[in-house]
Amino acid sequence: MTARIPYIGRFAPSPTGPLHFGSLVAAMASYLDAKAHHGQWLLRIEDVDGARNVDGAAEHILASIQRCGMHWDGDVSWQTQRYPLYQQALEQLGGLVYPCGCSRREIADSQVNLSGHHTQALVYPGICRDGLAPGKVERALRLKVPQSPHCVLSFEDRWAGHYSQDLTVDVGDFIIRRADGYWAYQLAVVVDDGAQGITDIVRGADLLDSTPRQLYLQQVLGLPQPTYLHVPVVVNEAGDKMSKQTGAQAFDTGADPQVLLREAMLPAARFLGLDIQAETIDAFWRAATPAWAQLLQTLPRRP
Ligand code: GLU
Repeated sequence: MTARIPYIGRFAPSPTGPLHFGSLVAAMASYLDAKAHHGQWLLRIEDVDGARNVDGAAEHILASIQRCGMHWDGDVSWQTQRYPLYQQALEQLGGLVYPCGCSRREIADSQVNLSGHHTQALVYPGICRDGLAPGKVERALRLKVPQSPHCVLSFEDRWAGHYSQDLTVDVGDFIIRRADGYWAYQLAVVVDDGAQGITDIVRGADLLDSTPRQLYLQQVLGLPQPTYLHVPVVVNEAGDKMSKQTGAQAFDTGADPQVLLREAMLPAARFLGLDIQAETIDAFWRAATPAWAQLLQTLPRRP
């Protein structure tokens, strides 16, 4: 195992609904990785996207995590309490940032969708890069991505292996503050991971294609690059990413710990490739941590 000392990991759910099977898998993987490295595990509620927050979801997620026997270190952090940090980063980015007056419709005309569920972003052709066109009003703030030579960023994912993206071609100048005034996920996550000293990020593979944008932001903000491990995303029979509905019943308040173990935790571990036999939640973690350490020996799993 190549442990970084100290190891600081985190789970960073968006409070868009209760913890579901897919997010349990991500939480479990990041918790196990932190434990296997004798590291810290921080909990950050990513409530920066005010348009998608659901009342009570954060509390429900935190309660579910505790009920599964996962204990975070320190206080829970909330992105909505960290706006000054994002503003500071914006100032630091200086001339790399420009106001954009384009609507989605305008950009969509000649573009293709990026795949990430967070972004549903369009490759931006740079219309406002050299100034707002006459008659346009500022909507979002974009970060310039180098054009020539292309900005190609690669990293070694601990699960998926080598990953590379040409940011210039596949993403273009991307949004760091949205037209609705909210800070963009990409900026907030990088600033927070940097400020919290996160050394190791373990999360779902739906964020693989966001990672090069985050590497770029780390570079321009002078932040260290953490290591990454993206676990496979749980999909339903239709092949869609598992969403709030599925598996949520296992997290009903008052659900028996045995039910939680049998219907949520053991299946989540199995999904990660861990064959755990346990009758109690405590026994589960005692068995799962060494099992995860062993599984790490078999990574990366290149497709
Ligand atoms: N907040 C994101 C989500 O719930 C995860 C972000 C991350 O782990 O970088 O999908």
